[in-house]
Amino acid sequence: MKNFSRRSFLERVSLGTVAAAALPSLSLADVNTFQGRKLNIALVGLGRYAGYLAEGLQTAQHCKLAGIVTGTPSKAEDWKKRYNIPDNNIYNYKNFDEVSRNKDIDVIYVVLPNAMHKEYAIRAAKAGKHVIVEKPMAITEQDCREMIDACNRAGVQLAMGYRLHYEPYNMEIKRLGQEKVFGKLKLIEASLGYRSADPSEWRVKKALAGGGPLMNLGVYCVQVARYVSGEEPTSVTAQFGPITNKLVFTEVEESITWQLQFPSGLVATSSSTYNCRIDRFFASAEEGFFELSPAISYGPFKGRTSNGDEMNFPEINQQGVQCDEIAKVLLANQKLPDHISGKEGMQDVKIMQAIYKAAETGKRIAI
Ligand code: NAD
Repeated sequence: MKNFSRRSFLERVSLGTVAAAALPSLSLADVNTFQGRKLNIALVGLGRYAGYLAEGLQTAQHCKLAGIVTGTPSKAEDWKKRYNIPDNNIYNYKNFDEVSRNKDIDVIYVVLPNAMHKEYAIRAAKAGKHVIVEKPMAITEQDCREMIDACNRAGVQLAMGYRLHYEPYNMEIKRLGQEKVFGKLKLIEASLGYRSADPSEWRVKKALAGGGPLMNLGVYCVQVARYVSGEEPTSVTAQFGPITNKLVFTEVEESITWQLQFPSGLVATSSSTYNCRIDRFFASAEEGFFELSPAISYGPFKGRTSNGDEMNFPEINQQGVQCDEIAKVLLANQKLPDHISGKEGMQDVKIMQAIYKAAETGKRIAI
């Protein structure tokens, strides 16, 4: 068994370069070419998560919050003052396409309800801007494909806002799994849930959310099983949980559990729910186990292995580091890495569609 080593991780990936472990390496010359120049990001949809991104961007070195797109004039006024955003970089949903003429915006970051990602990603691409899209990428595989095609046609890049690809604890479980530090993986359990009982939330409206907790939270469980194993699932079985709040969950599931089968024989079993809190990852391998709990939220994370080692990595501002690492690649005119690409986002949506089909039919569905 290879030794679990926190030190070796820290030697390879210091705080500022955590994400670089997963990105194409940039030479010093590459970095020097854009020294002083920051990538200008405009956020579309100024809800709760956009607030986290805005705060994260205050910590970034290679990008900044340069613009906003909102349908609410009072929010525009508030954000303009708080983040010093010039009037020329403030758009609403109607005049958004005029951003094509704005040289001070490089990237459009779509932070809208899931079903709106497609429209705004495509409009951003048509305006000649790079695109970052929040999870889940869209509500159907076909929508994802159209987004990828639009970006390819426009010659712009599309990144998923997959913050955990820059988060040290998650990158450590990826290393432990993919390097088979504890031998062949046998079983993964990864679940995410919280209590939600607000019937007015877009997250419980099928047309806007595309589904319930699977689309919102389960996407992370699908992701973590894929990046820890380095494998793609070949089939899935799934079950809807009971509806305990009949007033709220009229359109989407309240809970869902699924089992992904992988070519090596690995099974990843997960639940996502709006009925209770859960945030954990556990991997059992031939020669031991490793786990995180909390595992997926904004931290602080906690992890340990069957060697008795407690993981102890620096906590980072996930949103700031994510935007910085994407900015470094775009500023250097390099291709974004596959694991945050549109294809990656589309694969997760494809798997989630198979999970729904498995739960609806009660059958094992091939992926
Ligand atoms: P939110 O409800 O707080 O914000 C949504 C924003 O969209 C609001 O500003 C709202 O005004 C705007 N909007 C425009 N048209 C709308 C419409 N027709 N209905 C409802 N809202 C409309 O949601 P959020 O939590 O900020 O989520 C936005 C996106 O970010 C989602 O795709 C979500 O999955 C994603 N997200 C990601 C993370 C993460 O950790 N990466 C965390 C939270 C949310």
